[in-house]
Amino acid sequence: MIDLHTHTRCSDGTDTPFALVKKALAAGITTLAITDHDSTAGWSEAITALQPQIELVLGAEISCLTHDGISVHMLGLLFDGEDRAIQQLLSDSRDTRIPRMRAMVELLQADGIQISLDDVYKAMPDGATLGRPHLADALVANGVVASRDEAFLDLLNNGSKYYVTHAAPTPVDAIKAIRSAGGVAVIAHPFASRRGQVLDATSFADLVSAGLNGIEVHHRDQNAEEQASLSAIARELNLVTTGSSDYHGTGKLNGLAENVTDKTQWLRLESEANQRRVVTK
Ligand code: AMP
Ligand code: ZN
Ligand code: FE
Ligand code: FE
Repeated sequence: MIDLHTHTRCSDGTDTPFALVKKALAAGITTLAITDHDSTAGWSEAITALQPQIELVLGAEISCLTHDGISVHMLGLLFDGEDRAIQQLLSDSRDTRIPRMRAMVELLQADGIQISLDDVYKAMPDGATLGRPHLADALVANGVVASRDEAFLDLLNNGSKYYVTHAAPTPVDAIKAIRSAGGVAVIAHPFASRRGQVLDATSFADLVSAGLNGIEVHHRDQNAEEQASLSAIARELNLVTTGSSDYHGTGKLNGLAENVTDKTQWLRLESEANQRRVVTK
């Protein structure tokens, strides 16, 4: 089984990278990608958990914003972690999450909701990429809401009056950075409409020109119709299709390998990186 999109405590998941790999092994996953938001901090620890039955795909999920302000997530897989330009892009993105979080906290405070930036930092593991799930956890700790899910539903979703975006590269810039670093770019859950406004079908051509390799089709946030449209777009543009869990540990319902990628699709995707970078033991 091939699962190409998962998170750890290095962003907003709840497992350590070591635990993630062990759980993937137990679940029968043979190819696992670790794709924390805007970070490669979990890579080295994940490698230490490897066993011969599983191979590791090092990656990151890059938060992007289109010129129209639509939030897009781009999976970068198999890129060179030493590439300075991509590490700069990731660190810039992490930096912009701090003033963004401050702005969201201030909006919540202005409405009398009990929360402080300090509370958010207390809810975040050291070195993690700061995100709304940590704000959600802080709101749970303060008794404002009962769960991450409730926090997103009531207060933190993209349509909420408390939602603030952070500065981020465009999807085209992210794809170019990933490809320049030798990796492959797969657009994550592009039609996940329940999260907010999504790309329209005509925007994919520009992404392909920038070097897009694949589309994440099978993902729990996309219904059957959305997945069928994406499959058709992938066929038309000759892109790889993937499926993945977007596992976050206990932070979300998503179970490891609940969606998976076909072997032939994976082999093609892997062959499009500039060198073989899958890590094995
Ligand atoms: P951010 O990167 O700070 O904008 O936060 C986005 C993250 O919030 C994504 O990784 C999502 O997985 C997570 N998220 C979105 N909706 C929910 C939800 N209902 N419950 C838990 N996490 C969510
Ligand atoms: Zn996440
Ligand atoms: Fe995402
Ligand atoms: Fe994700």
